[in-house]
Amino acid sequence: MEIAGALRTAREMGLVACTRCTRVWPGGTARCGRCGHRLHSREPKALQRVWAWWAVGLIAYLPANLWPMLETRTLVLSQESTIVGGAVDLARHGNWGIALVILVASVAIPVGKFLAIASLALGVRGGSALPRHRRQQLYEVVEYIGRWSMIDVFVVAILASLVQLGAVAQVSPGPASLFFALSVIFTMLSAQAFDSRLIWDEDPAPLAPPLPEGRPA
Ligand SMILES: [Zn+2]
Repeated sequence: MEIAGALRTAREMGLVACTRCTRVWPGGTARCGRCGHRLHSREPKALQRVWAWWAVGLIAYLPANLWPMLETRTLVLSQESTIVGGAVDLARHGNWGIALVILVASVAIPVGKFLAIASLALGVRGGSALPRHRRQQLYEVVEYIGRWSMIDVFVVAILASLVQLGAVAQVSPGPASLFFALSVIFTMLSAQAFDSRLIWDEDPAPLAPPLPEGRPA
């Protein structure tokens, strides 16, 4: 819902907030007097760091999907399966629930995250069709789902330990699990590097009469 009224950012009012403890200080203060954190009205080089982590996250995501996630060894045969291949196998054996969890956690969420972070970073440069408060919500969703992405690594760890108990077959995590974990960590760092205050800066005339659009962060 659009909220009519003044849109003035803290920066326009000469204020700077501490990103660690949220205390607000007059602009130009170097360090937070409460927690000692260094104060920046906008994190320096935020977008460069977002894109750097985003790129290595994407690079790590490729072997995570192309290389085997699980290696199954029995006395007579050994089998390797990728994330998607493993999910298809599970579905074929009737385990639709686990297959769905794996597909959502390892394909839908990571791909959605790459797209969301890219659109947030591009939006700062004026390349987004989404209104500002929608982008703020998108940022909060990306931050929120970050912690759930590791679910895939946990599924592999649990599968490995479960089947280990069954003795005859040995299941171990393949190289993809390491790259998947790295990819999740890198995209979390990418999302964290994004300074969401940048969303509110794009108005080229900050001292012009206030626009009836959204609320300040
Ligand atoms: Zn502080």
